[in-house]
Amino acid sequence: MSLRIENLTKRYDRTLAVNSVTLEIGPAETLALLGPSGCGKSTLLRLIAGLEPPNEGHILMGDKDLSGVPPQNRNIGMVFQDYALFPHLNVGKNIAFGLVELGLPRDTQRRRVGELLEMVGLSGSEQRRIHELSGGQQQRVALARALAPKPEVLLLDEPLSNLDQALRETLKIELKMILNQLKMRSIYVTHDQTEAITMGQRVAVMRQGQLEQVATPDRLREAPKNVWLAEFLGHRNIFSEQQLKQAKGIQVQGPAILRTDLISLGGDVVAEVMSHENHGNLIQIELLIPSWQLSVQWEGFTREVPSDIYPGKSLTLQIPNDAWVEIGQR
Ligand code: ADP
Repeated sequence: MSLRIENLTKRYDRTLAVNSVTLEIGPAETLALLGPSGCGKSTLLRLIAGLEPPNEGHILMGDKDLSGVPPQNRNIGMVFQDYALFPHLNVGKNIAFGLVELGLPRDTQRRRVGELLEMVGLSGSEQRRIHELSGGQQQRVALARALAPKPEVLLLDEPLSNLDQALRETLKIELKMILNQLKMRSIYVTHDQTEAITMGQRVAVMRQGQLEQVATPDRLREAPKNVWLAEFLGHRNIFSEQQLKQAKGIQVQGPAILRTDLISLGGDVVAEVMSHENHGNLIQIELLIPSWQLSVQWEGFTREVPSDIYPGKSLTLQIPNDAWVEIGQR
């Protein structure tokens, strides 16, 4: 069964929070919804969950139009940034909440809660109080609670944002493994591009209420649609039309990005080291290519680079034509 979002639009007074969004999410797919703060990610998630009605458009689960279906009947699970657990209920009762609503027998509920706690690495925590748990443990409970009724889709709104960096890294990997293992259709909202790239099989980048590009992480990195996307994704080598016009021997019209993953040492393009930074196995080098009058940021394995590297040293590079990717203006 597919989840389809068609021309979905939401206005708040003069703000067009979600502007005619169309998107399809496969049954076992994790889609990361990425974009700067205020671009409409949470609003889109709330529309899908049914927490707010859209002004226009439809959400379809298979053939069924979810318009007018209340949130509790949409078969959707949600995980929020602030966990939103019930503080007066213990861990077991929090997780069983949706199962009680479904009217499942007690022993089925108990078994399912046990399975879920095991899955999130909290076996035996049924009786614990919510305030006794760390932030990371609370988020694991929130995940278990959302998954308990076996929803058709799981919506996660910045689920790791309240956790410290180290815990965020660990939980990100755990979360990805759980979603893969369950083949869970999910939409993962984040403003953090590395999180989006790790979590999403596809990444949908949103900007001012609209979808700017929907693609696999590789595709997004290799061929961002325009300069805004390339900048937002932290691309290091973005060149304007003007810069490329001045560069002799480059055939592409700007704007374009240069894919440094396709550049290797030892070709016929002469480059001069401007500066370099070692990061263990990796080295980042800022290179000036005099014949192009362009500086290029290159990152490679330290072991591939001559050990006596210093500012002013000359290197030669192999730059294939397809390392240049033309992109749109804005
Ligand atoms: P994001 O999740 O990407 O940070 P939001 O969906 O929260 O973005 O917000 C998108 C836009 O809609 C913003 O301009 C925000 O100020 C506006 N907005 C969101 N919710 C409301 C609301 N309840 N009332 C008025 N404006 C809102």
